[in-house]
Amino acid sequence: AAAKIPRGESSVVAAARRLPVGVRKPSLRVVVTGGAGFVGSHLVDKLLARGDSVIVVDNFFTGRKENVAHHLSNPRFELIRHDVVEPILLEVDQIYHLGCPASPVHYKFNPIKTIKTNVMGTLNMLGLAKRVGARFLLTSTSEVYGDPLEHPQKESYWGHVNPIGVRSCYDEGKRTAETLTMDYHRGAGVEVRIARIFNTYGPRMCLDDGRVVSNFVAQTLRKQPMTVYGDGKQTRSFQYVSDLVDGLVTMMESEHIGPFNLGNPGEFTILELAQVVKETIDPSARVEFKPNTADDPHMRKPDISKAKSLLHWEPKISLKQGLPRMVSDFQRRIMDEK
Ligand code: NAD
Ligand code: UDP
Ligand code: UDP
Repeated sequence: AAAKIPRGESSVVAAARRLPVGVRKPSLRVVVTGGAGFVGSHLVDKLLARGDSVIVVDNFFTGRKENVAHHLSNPRFELIRHDVVEPILLEVDQIYHLGCPASPVHYKFNPIKTIKTNVMGTLNMLGLAKRVGARFLLTSTSEVYGDPLEHPQKESYWGHVNPIGVRSCYDEGKRTAETLTMDYHRGAGVEVRIARIFNTYGPRMCLDDGRVVSNFVAQTLRKQPMTVYGDGKQTRSFQYVSDLVDGLVTMMESEHIGPFNLGNPGEFTILELAQVVKETIDPSARVEFKPNTADDPHMRKPDISKAKSLLHWEPKISLKQGLPRMVSDFQRRIMDEK
């Protein structure tokens, strides 16, 4: 019997679902917004490697052409300089919507632009998904939990977020993006997925993007002290980028809307992270204490039991395994600066 095509599912995706086991899926046309950035470029590598055609839409605010330069001669790859705040017409089967600055330093640089990107950018990508019947995945964030009163955080937790603070353009922006995503799903039948990503690190992060892992690694390689904000007792959980990318693709291909927490449950204080960086790179590395920023969440650790049971996904790479892979990339780029 012919399988029912869910509303909002493209014909290519529906055809792929009906294929007998063992028959290769037809190549999908996928758009990755923010595909020239850190996470996006690793996702693009994976999608192209499995045979998809990929269009990257990026305004290069924090992304770099260099991150995808190795694909420029691939006929299945296209790079478009475009700001998602403006509408765009494309014909695709899947949309991975990552376009948005992710580091606090970058998203606080122009907060109005950040909230516009989250609201108007997400609206445009959902409008596109609706028009062409594409499946849409939003990369939301653990920041939707704010400074959480529940620990570890489950997807059912509604969060503890300051709506008028300096982080609001990002965390309230992503909360609105989640709302838009669910409204297009319920109201317009768009097939959607929501990933709540926890702190992720790896090669191709901006050297000076201000996030803690990239800061500590770059500082130690440059023989500068690691800047610990506050007392360094606040906690975070650090996920290696390939685990995240596996999780995003698994979610997109699954039958589940989410939201799903995608993160590594290993929890470290910032001082413990500094210790791991020191052991990995330079035993003589030092730390320097600096005042903390406003509204900094005190602790963060994902409960990933939902993704484990429904997606059979869990991270494979520990901080001690992942860090050296990032260090070699940073070493090369810091050498190139000289
Ligand atoms: P990144 O800054 O490296 O990448 C973001 C990309 O989006 C960049 O290439 C940037 O140029 C592009 N971009 C920004 N504004 C845009 C706009 N208006 N139009 C088009 N492109 C735009 O950050 P990342 O770490 O790769 O993050 C990717 C996504 O994952 C973001 O949506 C972020 O919120 C989410 N996320 C990341 C983390 C993490 O730890 N890396 C954690 C939670 C959520
Ligand atoms: N949009 C887009 N590309 C498309 C379809 C829509 O960028 O292929 C934009 C559109 O310009 C609008 C937004 O997505 O700003 C929401 O589209 P929708 O059709 O849901 O709303 P409407 O245009 O009816 O307000
Ligand atoms: N942090 C720090 N030193 C730095 C950068 C960040 O101590 O050089 C701290 C920051 O105060 C926060 C944690 O590290 O408690 C994670 O910060 P990051 O900006 O990486 O991500 P966030 O989880 O805040 O979005």
